[in-house]
Amino acid sequence: MANISHHIPEALLVSYVGGTLPRPFAMVIAAHVSICEECRANLAAHETVGGALMDAFEPISVSDDLRNNVLAQLDDAFTPEPVRPRGDETYPAPVLEALGSKPPRWRSLGPGAKQCILESGKSGSVRLLYIAPGYAVPDHTHGGLELTLVLQGAFKDETGRFGRGDLEVADDDLEHTPIAEDGDPCICLAATDAPLKFSSFVPRLLQPMFRI
Ligand code: ZN
Ligand code: ZN
Repeated sequence: MANISHHIPEALLVSYVGGTLPRPFAMVIAAHVSICEECRANLAAHETVGGALMDAFEPISVSDDLRNNVLAQLDDAFTPEPVRPRGDETYPAPVLEALGSKPPRWRSLGPGAKQCILESGKSGSVRLLYIAPGYAVPDHTHGGLELTLVLQGAFKDETGRFGRGDLEVADDDLEHTPIAEDGDPCICLAATDAPLKFSSFVPRLLQPMFRI
């Protein structure tokens, strides 16, 4: 069981439940939920509250039996399902689906870093990032929102340490340099809604080529 300390912020969970989150971000949230029991329970609670609000708009009289039955089912919704990793220990089900259950096709991003773009469109893009131990993702800021979920290994940046299952939420206020820890290579699922802005000259030149 992953020891997760960085979870889905409430506002993102609410957008996810409401179906208003762009697809690239929704995939990262779904991937986190599939490996985090705490957020899965929180999500179930939100879905139940959403359902209860819907019910409030259409008052109908029901028998006590039916009412108790429905209430008992609502209680059930709070019970998190056991974690069932599918396929392998690294890639959660939503990622495996996007990969078509095939291994990622990595493309080099320079020394120690590779990426595999899963989806890229108007609403943003979502990719797998591979960072070799001790290497960094080039220093950058964000034109919009960036969600990064660690699937293997760990990285550290200016805001803290992120291991398997941890979710980092970055926006245009944050300039950071994630560095992979020693040990396993760090593999992340990262979604962005605007191109990253690199602070140094060379990565900025490479940016159109890598669509990062
Ligand atoms: Zn969580
Ligand atoms: Zn970033």
